[in-house]
Amino acid sequence: MVKISNILVDEDLEKTFVIEDANSAFVNEIKRAAASQVPVMAIEDIFFIDNSSALYDEILAQRLGLIPLTTGKEYKLKETCKCKGKGCALCRAKLTLKVKGPKMVYASDLEAKDPKVKPIYPEMLIVELLEGQEIELEAHAILGIGEEHAKWSPCLAYYQKYPKITIDQKKVSVKVALEHCPKDVFEVENKKLKVKNLLNCNLCKSCEDRTNGAIKISGEASKYIFTIESWGQLPPQDILKQSVKIINSKIKDAKLK
Ligand SMILES: [Zn+2]
Repeated sequence: MVKISNILVDEDLEKTFVIEDANSAFVNEIKRAAASQVPVMAIEDIFFIDNSSALYDEILAQRLGLIPLTTGKEYKLKETCKCKGKGCALCRAKLTLKVKGPKMVYASDLEAKDPKVKPIYPEMLIVELLEGQEIELEAHAILGIGEEHAKWSPCLAYYQKYPKITIDQKKVSVKVALEHCPKDVFEVENKKLKVKNLLNCNLCKSCEDRTNGAIKISGEASKYIFTIESWGQLPPQDILKQSVKIINSKIKDAKLK
């Protein structure tokens, strides 16, 4: 059974952990689901009342769409909402922007009607307004998935095999190994080469190439180091839970015709 052990990086927005008893297909599926299937909120529709800034409506809309928003748990995907995609309070959150120049306009100038759906990084710059320039607009944020547009992607997810290093002490040149490992994996102890930081190894094999195979780098057969770096809309643990749920529901939905 697949299990998660050993959390290596444990920060609010970044978790790195070890997945055991899994295969590449499974781990890859988690990665894909995390980055492109877990829904988060982003601005999709914008109604411009006034825009005399230096940016066209389309460019401004593109910028606003890419501002990461906190994702309220009670919203529904518009496809599964009662309103059948027309847009209602259950599937759509409103934000407004009303600013006058001269002014630097930041994400924090967006006024969220629902405090649960607001910009995560208030200091993101949107545009600079000069004297006499104004923007007034209403933006609608909806849930979406990264597969459709990167603005709905909640994270960067990646993995590598758990490193396995074997050293032939008779053949290895300690100096060459130390010199050519860019990740500070090795150390010398009693004139012998030892592995100091196994988990630093990113399997680049630079040492294997330079020592003519006296060091062998490979990956454990069913063990992986997996990282989720959230953009902030959801914590990494929620992204992982939802990814597993999505994979399970896809398997349940699979039918033979
Ligand atoms: Zn709706």
